[in-house]
Amino acid sequence: MNAETDHQELVAFHLTGDRSGGHLTDVADLELRPVLFAGYGDLTRLRYDYPLLLAENTDGEDAVCTLSGIFDRILNRIAPEGIEGEFARKQLLGLEREIRTAVAGGAEGALSDMWRQAGERMLAEAGETTGKDLADVLSRAEAALAVDGQVVDCDGETPGRVLRHLWMAERRQKNRRLRHRLDKLILGLKAILRTDFAKSEAGRSADQLKSAMGGAFEAAFDFDAMSNILPRTSPDASLPEDRRLRLLATLKVLETQRFVPPSELLGQTGGEAPYDFVFEGCGAAMAALEERLPELVALTKALSVAELEMENRFKPLRHAQYFENFDQNSLRPEDLAQFPSYLVLSAEDGSATTAVERAKAVELLSSGLPIKVLVQTDDLLDQGSVAPGQIALGGNNLHFANMAVGINSAYVFQSTSAGMYRLRDRIIRGLDYAGPALFSIFSGGAGVNGSRTSYLAAAAAAESRGFPAFVFDPAAGPDWASRFSIANNPQTETDWPEHDFSYEMEHHQRVDERYNFTFVDFVAADRRYAAHLAGVANGGAGNGLMPAGEYLQRNPDERRDSVPYVLMVDGDEVLRKIVVGETLIRAAEQCGESWRALQELGGVHNSHAARLLESERRLWEEEKQLELDALRAQAEAASAAPATAPAPLSPGPNVADASVPAAVEEVEEEAQDAPAMNPDEPWIETPRCTTCNECTELNNQMFAYNENQQAYLLDLDAGTFKEMVEAAETCQVSIIHPGKPRNPKEPNLEELIKRAAPFI
Ligand code: SF4
Repeated sequence: MNAETDHQELVAFHLTGDRSGGHLTDVADLELRPVLFAGYGDLTRLRYDYPLLLAENTDGEDAVCTLSGIFDRILNRIAPEGIEGEFARKQLLGLEREIRTAVAGGAEGALSDMWRQAGERMLAEAGETTGKDLADVLSRAEAALAVDGQVVDCDGETPGRVLRHLWMAERRQKNRRLRHRLDKLILGLKAILRTDFAKSEAGRSADQLKSAMGGAFEAAFDFDAMSNILPRTSPDASLPEDRRLRLLATLKVLETQRFVPPSELLGQTGGEAPYDFVFEGCGAAMAALEERLPELVALTKALSVAELEMENRFKPLRHAQYFENFDQNSLRPEDLAQFPSYLVLSAEDGSATTAVERAKAVELLSSGLPIKVLVQTDDLLDQGSVAPGQIALGGNNLHFANMAVGINSAYVFQSTSAGMYRLRDRIIRGLDYAGPALFSIFSGGAGVNGSRTSYLAAAAAAESRGFPAFVFDPAAGPDWASRFSIANNPQTETDWPEHDFSYEMEHHQRVDERYNFTFVDFVAADRRYAAHLAGVANGGAGNGLMPAGEYLQRNPDERRDSVPYVLMVDGDEVLRKIVVGETLIRAAEQCGESWRALQELGGVHNSHAARLLESERRLWEEEKQLELDALRAQAEAASAAPATAPAPLSPGPNVADASVPAAVEEVEEEAQDAPAMNPDEPWIETPRCTTCNECTELNNQMFAYNENQQAYLLDLDAGTFKEMVEAAETCQVSIIHPGKPRNPKEPNLEELIKRAAPFI
């Protein structure tokens, strides 16, 4: 096969998917993964963000920890650095790996259980000599284990589990706060009513006194006598009837509410169960919200009335009418923020994110109510929504998140599950946000994308711009720069992240390369799209190949004769060059377009800013030109005055000659326009300096910038005449005039003077 047919075969495959030439191979069964993930063949050997621990009874960022983080803390405590701690360190890292392997194998449960089981397995395998020391290390480590909770791996359930766990932590805090407030108000209202009752006839009856004092005092007191001797209270001292009724009604609302669990302090038992706030779909959440809204309004009102009553500030004339008209429109964000938010967990299972469900989600997200919606994507490549043979991003949920940003008052968080741990603070912020929030999370595939693990698929989606991370936080500030952030993506300034990687050739020859991770690398690891890829046989085709990262950044003319490829490793860890079909390139271009739009929103390569910068630059240049014109006019005026006429600048006898070419005339005019200077002395036409740095980089002691960032001569003795001449030669606008040498002993003066002549 010659180079010509070689290239033709590549081009044919790229354009048509035809592999019939015989030199390109099918990649469907190669278990490909991106070359930059070559080291991630066995995740159980790596210490990374998974598995996660959903820590029990822990709030804030500590509610989610990594297994590695937990072990690091224990290692710090019980395995000192150096040889002394070597044994403990080795055993504990082995224990961590044992747990990680168990979780990767499908084990579920509490960390404490997994810890114990893994320890038992290690002890069973340990020899007699190490067994005792190992048991000691394990027991000390277990004693140092300060947290417990469920251990979760990265899979299809992770987004929902992590979000729900963080939401529960946030809900616990809210419950505590609201429960405390309710308890205080219930006790307060009861105290007012009790005091009122105590002043009444019934309150002073012998039976009431007996029950108020308690059985222990029954023998010691004559309650009939006591009842008779208590002074009679005037009718005015009792609560007015309307107030008493108001207090009773308010108390009833506070005691029967179902938004937080019953009070342990007040010994509340029975009654109706507290409300559930977790829903499987937006429709159910919306129905519950509407149904509970009157109760929510009543409770909010009761809380306010009770507080006013407790402080004796309730003024019927002022407040009665206001509270009578109090309805859902009277609720303020801070009123709503004290109640648990509603959590809607929807997975992309074909029903949860239907168009109807999305429409309801939009309604919820636009409502201003504290509803937190998870929209989970399991398959990023949406086969169903495009024509056969085409490739498109699982656009529905991606577009849904973008659209939610447009609502402008909803918190929007987007990430893959690979980034959830590092971005947990942003998740918590969204859960804390007083209004609605959308969490759009790519789970990593849950096994639908071929052989790769969910974690790798999620990490590849983030790295390839297929599922970029962003946060829109309406509470973060008044403008887009404060509210919208894409900072949690790799290399936000670039189209495609670029990485160094090394590999070894057949004869142990090391090769270092820079490589762009693109959307093509993400798709190429998905065997469903193997038809768009072909392996280049070793020693076979290879002419005219171009890395896909470079190909995508070139315009059509620059890449016309090239065929794009990506580097992948197969299941046997062999590096493969994989040729890419045009369809996949088009999908990658579409992905790049979406990423660039996101960059703009995030303030990276913003076209509005670039235009503004350009117009400012033009304005600046025009102003400079005006200044120069003014300077020239001044110089002309000065040269016209006989008393102050400058020394002739040697225009020569032909200066006024009409036959002198225009360009020459211009140069000479410039020389005449310049302020009168001694040609023997070096000088710079500072106002014309374009701040190109050439002279200052040559010698920053001799040349410096003034406050307008324009060059002037700082210290003539700080450099040589040679440097002065070189600066004059490199100055792009020829405004450095070297004058005559200051040091007659400087070498090569004759030649330097000749070079300086054009600039004097
Ligand atoms: S080389 Fe010329 S234009 Fe550039 S900084 Fe120096 S003086 Fe200014």
